[in-house]
Amino acid sequence: MHRWLSTSAFAALLGAAFFTTVTEAQPGSVKEIVKGVWFREGEIKEMGHCNNVIVEMKDYLVMIDANFPSGAKLALADAKKVSSKPVRYVFDTHHHGDHAYGNSFWTRNGAETMGFPGVVEMMKVHEPKAWQSAAKGRKDVAELNLTTAEPPKTVFAKSPHVMDDGARRLEFHHFGWAHTRGDGFAWLPKESVLCTGDAATNGPYNYLGDAHIGNWANVMKEALKLKPKHVLPGHGPAGGAEIVEGEMAFMQELNALVESGVKAGKQSEEIARTGLSDKVKNWVGPSFPGQVKDAWIEKTKKTPRGAVTM
Ligand SMILES: [Zn+2]
Repeated sequence: MHRWLSTSAFAALLGAAFFTTVTEAQPGSVKEIVKGVWFREGEIKEMGHCNNVIVEMKDYLVMIDANFPSGAKLALADAKKVSSKPVRYVFDTHHHGDHAYGNSFWTRNGAETMGFPGVVEMMKVHEPKAWQSAAKGRKDVAELNLTTAEPPKTVFAKSPHVMDDGARRLEFHHFGWAHTRGDGFAWLPKESVLCTGDAATNGPYNYLGDAHIGNWANVMKEALKLKPKHVLPGHGPAGGAEIVEGEMAFMQELNALVESGVKAGKQSEEIARTGLSDKVKNWVGPSFPGQVKDAWIEKTKKTPRGAVTM
């Protein structure tokens, strides 16, 4: 969802996580979506965890997203409950701490971490600062005793990157810059299951500080061309294509609202008071004024929000 400690709201939220032990996370949140594909809804409020997806291949498991280290531990424990196969690969959908800071945990547990080039590029921009700041507020990050984040070990040369062992075909797609420059999707063509990372969330979880807000809807359009039946988002509950459609509509409305506001010479605070339609209310929450500000910065600087350093 968010870059570590980038907004005060999330700083407060994750500060609480420091005092929370791993065992307090909500159990029983693992659901088999289709045979051999499990969705694990992460506990976001207290732990700041992202969702995980466990994909069973012929001889091993693939984990979608590394999560924070404490989330990685829980995801591995759940993987052991559903299958006796080892987690051999872990896919970072993007570079944010709640999706990638568990990388070294997985490496130490014999898995190979993977991602698109933008994941590594964004880490180069934000690390080691973001990691060190996370280690101050989170016990699970501090406990790893590292000075910076571990990038994915394998970087895909092209999109899609395909894994096919005869039993299952798993594709990794990059459709461009939406939530971050490295946004990756995991796609099971036979089962029609799409894992979106934070490019599509099911709820008011869009962090836009590293985003290309004006391009986001285009990325959603590409994802929808796959015609997904099951959509497993980076945060919030699982669902169908309506998650991607809703995310796309939210970004279109946000862009249109801010564009007309900027043309009228308005500041972001004033624009935010207008709000969006009921159609996208699932994506509108306490971060809305901040999201309008991010879009306002992108429009006025005429460059992707994630490329503007403030
Ligand atoms: Zn994110």
